[in-house]
Parts: sequence; C-alpha cells; structure tokens
Amino acid sequence: MLIYIKGLEDERFARPLQLIANLFFEETEIRMDEGQKSELAVAVQLRQEGKQISAQAVLTADDKQYQAEYGKMVTAVDEKEHFKQVKNVVSHVFLHVLQAYTGITQKWGILTGMRPTKLLHKQNQAGVPAEAAHRKLQEEYLITEEKIDLMQRILDRQLTMVPDLYKVKDEVSIYIGIPFCPTKCAYCTFPAYAIQGKQGRVASFLSGLHYEMEQIGRWLKEKGIKITTVYYGGGTPTAITAEEMDELYALMYEVFPGVEDIREITVEAGRPDTITPEKLTVLKKWNIDRISINPQSYTQETLKAIGRHHTVEETIEKYHMARESGMNNINMDLIIGLPGEGTAEFAHSLAETEKLMPESLTVHTLSFKRASEMTLNKEKYKVADRTEVEAMMNMAEQWTKEHEYVPYYLYRQKNILGNLENVGYSKPGQESIYNIMIMEEVQTIIGIGCGAASKFIDRETGKIEHFSNPKDPKTYNERFSEYTEKKIDKLNKLFP
Ligand code: SF4
Repeated sequence: MLIYIKGLEDERFARPLQLIANLFFEETEIRMDEGQKSELAVAVQLRQEGKQISAQAVLTADDKQYQAEYGKMVTAVDEKEHFKQVKNVVSHVFLHVLQAYTGITQKWGILTGMRPTKLLHKQNQAGVPAEAAHRKLQEEYLITEEKIDLMQRILDRQLTMVPDLYKVKDEVSIYIGIPFCPTKCAYCTFPAYAIQGKQGRVASFLSGLHYEMEQIGRWLKEKGIKITTVYYGGGTPTAITAEEMDELYALMYEVFPGVEDIREITVEAGRPDTITPEKLTVLKKWNIDRISINPQSYTQETLKAIGRHHTVEETIEKYHMARESGMNNINMDLIIGLPGEGTAEFAHSLAETEKLMPESLTVHTLSFKRASEMTLNKEKYKVADRTEVEAMMNMAEQWTKEHEYVPYYLYRQKNILGNLENVGYSKPGQESIYNIMIMEEVQTIIGIGCGAASKFIDRETGKIEHFSNPKDPKTYNERFSEYTEKKIDKLNKLFP
C-alpha cells in the first residue's frame, strides 16, 4: 500500500506514519513527494501559534472525505522532545482518518512501541495521579479504556511484587544465553542451534561462558553490587547435559555475589523434550525458583507444522515430572495464531492448561519475525485473521480471570497478528521479577553467553545502551574475552 502524504516536508515524519499505517495495511510505504501513483492520499496541515500546535488531516478515497483535527500545547524542553510532541499531534489525526476510512479501531491508539506500560510508570513516578495519567493516555495517545485499565492493573501488580521498582537501578539482573536446542522451530529467530552431534562445540561454548561469569562476578563483588534476578534463556538452557548444568550452577554460586539473596533464578526448560529426572534433580539441588515448560499449543499437528519435535503428551508428562520433583513455580507459554489454529484449537489449549494449572501462563500472539522460516515462506503457513486472533486474545483474558490469574507484564511487537500484545499472567505473588525488570527497563541487565543482549541503563538519565554478544557459537568462542572486556568498560562508566 503506497500512501501519499501531502503537506509535510520533514522526512522525520515518514517512519512514524508508516508504523501507524502498518497497523491497518500490510507493508505500507509512505511518500511525501508526488512522484509515484499512490493508492491513498492524506493531506496534512500543521499550524503552530506560540506553544499551540494543531494539525488537520483529510483522507480522500472513493469520492469520500474523512477529516480529523487535533491540537495541544507543546511543553518541550529541547528540539528532540519538541519534534516528538509535534509528531504525536500529526500521528493523532493520521490515525483518526485511517480509523474512519477502514472502520478499524486501534486499541493502542498511536502507540507503536513495545512497552506501553513504561508510559504509565513514567507518569506514576512523576507523581501524576492515576486519573490524570489515564486521561492523558486517552486524549493524547488515543488508547482505549480497556487497554488503559490493563496497563493500570499491570502497574499495580508490578509495584506489589517489586515495591522498590523505581530504586532497583542500583542493582543489576543477569541474563545467561545458552544457544542450543534439540531442533530449530519454524518461527524462531533466537540464537538456537540444533544440538545433535555438537557436543564438542557445546563444551567450548561452556568454557567461554564460565570465563564470562567469572569476570562479571568478580566485577560485581569488587563494586559491591547486588544481583536482583538471574535468567537462563537461549536456546533451551536444559538442552545441555545434567552434568553440564550442575557445573554451571555450581559456578554461579561460586563466582556471583550473594546468590542466596537473589530474588529469583529462572531456567527456561522451554522444550519438554529436554527435561529429564536428572536435570530436574540438578535444578532442585541449586534452588532454581522458576522454570518454564512451553507447550505453545496442545494440538499435535501444529507442533509438527512449526518444527517442534515433541508430543503434546510429552509436555504434560514433563510438567507432572517437574511438579513431582518439587518445582513449585512453573510457567507455560501459549501462542495465539499458530499456523492452522483458530478458536477451536485455542479453546483446546486452554482446556488442557486447566488440567495443569501452572503458576504462570504467558500468552504470546504470533509475530512474523523477519528472519524466521515462517516469514520467509509466508504462503506456506495459513494463519488466523485479525478478528479471530482478537477473539482468542479475549478467550485468554476471560480464562485467566476465571482462574484467578492476574496480568503482570505486557509487550508488543512489530508485525504482531491483529496488532495485539503478549501478556504474562500469573497467580498473585508468583509473577516473574525478571520479566518485570526487562519490560520496564528499570535497571541494567548484563547479558552473558551466546547472543545475550545487555541493556545498560544510565542511573541518572535512564538512557539505554544496547550491546549484544555474538549469536553463533563459533564467533562467540573466538571473541568472548573481548566482549567481556567491553561490557566491563561500559559497566565501569555506569557504576564508577
Ligand atoms: S525451542 Fe525456543 S529457542 Fe529453541 S528453536 Fe524453538 S523457539 Fe527457538
């Protein structure tokens, strides 16, 4: 879909308007000059009188006109913030005319970012009363009441779980990436390499990982910095052997400061085909608080279609095995909109979940990530339409409410089906603290291991710097010490 925007010259508008248009149409392109023949044209008039900014948009299509107007006082302190506020005014009228033209209401309004709850936290932290903050989200961002209510419930849960949420910036969390899986799933873009026959590679990867843990642990001890949470992700961290896991956790206790006081240690055991009684004994031995066993779906054909080589029965069996071994905080992930799935399959997944009742349930909406096999072969994978995806999302909301789960974090992705969100639900008191840390970006997260992304957060300004370790084990093995050094340099600047 090619959209011509008439009346705006600043090229900086093109990207945000494209993101908004993508909420309505597939693969839009925004043109601000009249060159090519466009499929849709929107005329925008922008006026500024003193601090008052106002915009008008007129969309003309099929001999009909759709109009919108909006204005606000700009309170910017610098040019960057000024443009952001002007951009929001333009986005506001642009969204309005697209909604009128298509008949689709965007529940998240003009917000296209990943972390809507951050906006509400910002207001809350600045002491803005909830009612005023909600009004702002509704008027300026056009977010619907339903989503604002969801954001508020999430914020309340987060502050109950982590009362010092706005102060944990003086601590850090640690993410440890283990890049191996039994096989590669079709929608996956994580650093995940099929483990079969790669034991030599696993061993050399682990020695690099041990080095990183030792160096980072030493730095934390020297600086007297506490660890809030540790998260083992990947890949599938339980794809390595029980002995390798045992060594890894033993090392964590040895080199990290105050492991007994870490608020939460999670190990993703995502793929049920990796779980064995021996590995569960190791997890228990080292007091791992929380694991994730991810069914994604309880329909066998779906698992086959997405390349997950395990059975539904295996998920259920491994779940019971984990329970019997004493694991008492288990998360399960479900994905809405997997190929070939509609409300009937999703209802089945919820009915199966009901028999297990994990402590938390994360409901993802399928997103077509750029590099995944599914995106590259889109025509091969039939997925549900917008209305059905929304119906499934509502089913999840209803089901969790009836079974006394509360939403405690959410994030959105680009190219997510139906422009919906991923929501983490949990039994009250068993929310994952790491998930809250990563979503709300309140503290530095040090990424260790293959493909691990670090997020360095300036404690004064909140400015975020991203830094990623190499994704493939070979490059990681060659360069881990150099990457560790770079991270320690950055950390020294944040924690002098
Ligand atoms: S189990 Fe997870 S990390 Fe591994 S291939 Fe599948 S989606 Fe990717």
